[in-house]
Amino acid sequence: MEKAVYPLMIIGGGPAGLSASIYSCRYGIKTLLLAPLGGGLASSADKIENYPGFPEEISGMELVNKMKEQAEKFGLEMAYAQVQKVEREGGIFSVFAEDNYYSRALIIATGAEPNRLGVPGEDALRGRGVSYCATCDGPFFKGKSVIVVGGGDSALQEALYLAQITRQVTLVHRREQFRGAAYLVDKIMAAPNISLRLSSVIAEIKGRERVEGAIIKNLKTGKEEFLPADGIFIYVGIKPNSDLVKELVRLDQNGAIITDEMMRTSQEGIFACGDVRATPLRQIVTACADGAIAATSAYHYLNPEK
Ligand code: NAP
Repeated sequence: MEKAVYPLMIIGGGPAGLSASIYSCRYGIKTLLLAPLGGGLASSADKIENYPGFPEEISGMELVNKMKEQAEKFGLEMAYAQVQKVEREGGIFSVFAEDNYYSRALIIATGAEPNRLGVPGEDALRGRGVSYCATCDGPFFKGKSVIVVGGGDSALQEALYLAQITRQVTLVHRREQFRGAAYLVDKIMAAPNISLRLSSVIAEIKGRERVEGAIIKNLKTGKEEFLPADGIFIYVGIKPNSDLVKELVRLDQNGAIITDEMMRTSQEGIFACGDVRATPLRQIVTACADGAIAATSAYHYLNPEK
């Protein structure tokens, strides 16, 4: 039996992949979207306040479901699949999952995972005070006290953002020196409501229903101390989910897929959008914009005469 070759396949069912599919289907491209169950990081957000058009807040799951409904309305075909491998042979991409799928163009929208600390209490209290996104969850901690963990640009930048909203930020970093940019370090030092715990790590996150604080261990003295807090924001790096295509496209030093402004990767016919690509802002609104651009580029790739 001859294999069915889709013009376009999209891997990833979060906002980036779904936005790409809304655009590709409206361009009249027969599109198959492959994704595991769930809608990426976005669908785990309890409330989303900063996605334009929803002034009364919406849950991540609800927003992703609406995008899915919209895409299906335009004719998107979806298959739930845990993709194992992607290969290229001539002008055809083969995607290996429980079944195999084939296409002429491919959009990678597989997102990124925040690195976890791996300490007791982290998983149990995720979404109940443990967060990996200050832009998403910070406003829920207005006037409260929070802990930020990490010493890179993300931790510094988000600690500064949280200091504007919350009463008190404690920045916990495992070394004496910060990895993040010097200008951010200067701002941290100047902020009146940011205190530092250096050469320190989180040993455990405590709380019954919600986060109540954390046990902080000083690595120099070995001393452990309970620090009360309403929230804990973890910024210990992210891992873009780019393994599937790491042999096919260029990645940056963090494993993010490098694209140009049209979401083209180094491999002709493969486009990338959302958190998996090297980008200065990882938000739902930017993932959606990326998706629209990726679909437009795929359309021109598939229809060079247009
Ligand atoms: P990052 O630069 O990899 O920094 C991660 C931080 O977490 C490091 O300080 C690291 O400590 C710490 N860490 C890692 N594992 C840990 C653990 N298990 N326990 C405690 N601490 C741990 O990650 P990022 O800050 O998310 O930044 C990622 C990339 O995006 C970087 O290239 C960054 O420059 C870029 N970025 C840029 C901007 C900007 O330009 N405005 C903003 C955000 C991010 P050590 O320092 O000891 O290794």
